[in-house]
Amino acid sequence: MTESVNVVGRQEAGGSVEPLRLARRVVRACQALLPARSGGTMILGYHLVGAGTDLVIDIAAADFRRQMEELAETCEVVPLSEALVEPESGFSRDRPRVVLTFDDGYENQYAVGWPVLRELNLPCTLFVQVDLVTGKHPGAIRSGPHPELPPLTWEQMVEMAASGLVEIGCHTCTHPDLRRLPESELRHELVDSKRQLEDHLGRPVESFCYPRGLRSRRVEREVVRHYRSAVVRGGRAVWPGASPYRLQRVPIRRDMNGSLRSVVRSRLWLEEWLAAGVRRVLDPPIAAG
Ligand SMILES: [Zn+2]
Repeated sequence: MTESVNVVGRQEAGGSVEPLRLARRVVRACQALLPARSGGTMILGYHLVGAGTDLVIDIAAADFRRQMEELAETCEVVPLSEALVEPESGFSRDRPRVVLTFDDGYENQYAVGWPVLRELNLPCTLFVQVDLVTGKHPGAIRSGPHPELPPLTWEQMVEMAASGLVEIGCHTCTHPDLRRLPESELRHELVDSKRQLEDHLGRPVESFCYPRGLRSRRVEREVVRHYRSAVVRGGRAVWPGASPYRLQRVPIRRDMNGSLRSVVRSRLWLEEWLAAGVRRVLDPPIAAG
């Protein structure tokens, strides 16, 4: 973790702990007293890894390695396709399930991220903006004073996909707001991108990522026609039985508080705790006698 990451419960200038941070500390303290949760999966959304920008979505290389080592040691890192699968009976409740995803398709994901993932044998999904790779359209990420970041190459993607650890998903051609597009352009963004990826990679492309998480029912209907799953904005865990076309993700930022494992566990714990409360209201236990 960076110094900025290890600041849970930091005293503010005035001496008082921020209410949200205090709440998080209470949740994490309670976690230790209650049984761990199971069945839910946290999908983590990364963008840049060691790209050398000052963007909050650019995780320094050393921090990324520490995060991946922590996940490998303490969590069950599974492919996106297993996010909604019921855990097997031998599943360890102390090891929350996590899915790794990376957006847009920048070269740093191969140069910096991939060696770590390969070494630790961690599966992930890369959502690629196709026109960024072909050079037809600039990437979604503007890095301010930094030069345009180089994209992944087809060769790099083929190599990663051939390992069996990396699934390549689709992130449109030009990274537009899909809600605003007429039918023909929408189909181009969803279908031509998929076809190009499949032609170059020689394997099916089945998962989709909405640019900036923006979707509508019309867009979703089209996505359902061409893909088997899609990730959206959100930040909540996903649970068996959820729609595979609305898989929420936790965006990973360099200023996140706490270790990744505690972030994962506290979110799963909160979700299960809230769900249990709702279940008690909807289906209260019958009193004896
Ligand atoms: Zn994107």
